[in-house]
Amino acid sequence: MPPFPDIDAVKDNVRDCQKCNLHKTRTNAVPGMGSQNADIVFIGEAPGRSEDARGEPFVGAAGAKLSAALIRAGLSRDAVYITNIVKCRPPENRVPTTEERQTCMSYLHAEIQIINPKIICILGNTAFGSILGGSEITKHRGKVAAMGGRLYYITIHPAAAIYNQKLIDILYGDIKELAAITQRLIDGKEVAVDIRYDKPS
Ligand code: URA
Ligand code: SF4
Repeated sequence: MPPFPDIDAVKDNVRDCQKCNLHKTRTNAVPGMGSQNADIVFIGEAPGRSEDARGEPFVGAAGAKLSAALIRAGLSRDAVYITNIVKCRPPENRVPTTEERQTCMSYLHAEIQIINPKIICILGNTAFGSILGGSEITKHRGKVAAMGGRLYYITIHPAAAIYNQKLIDILYGDIKELAAITQRLIDGKEVAVDIRYDKPS
């Protein structure tokens, strides 16, 4: 695929994409949303029912939890960029297959390359596994990871926190820490890396 000139070109291609079977059951493809100049890119799993209906990421119940966490951390939704591993809703919200993730990955790579954020926030196990090859998010959340010259912050998926006050507190605390880490990066200060991952060949 030729390189995309800007984020709008990526979004246009996502909206028309038919590269995997998920295009057959979607209502709307869901490109990422937010600022092309964002310091933080958030990556979830896949659109759910509300996102599929609206064509926008994280606008349902999980999105409300993410928005609340952002507000508490002093981050505006417009100033960050929010996207998913796959851009079309899997039927019954099943976890996207390896093939679907790999097929959709060129859009995520383009989003990251164009935005070039200071840090990427991994939301939950699907993003963790797809990007860093990790698993067991609850053991790794709250950590800063490095891979291939990029920094990542690992936290839980906001959907896990919908009915669980303990996980809500964890999500809110993690996003606050992410905001503080991002400010250090903006200020040109050192940030300690907890885990290093090798780039998959
Ligand atoms: N869950 C996700 O992973 N992404 C969304 O956009 C909404 C819910
Ligand atoms: Fe294209 Fe990704 Fe949607 Fe599959 S999930 S049709 S690769 S945009």
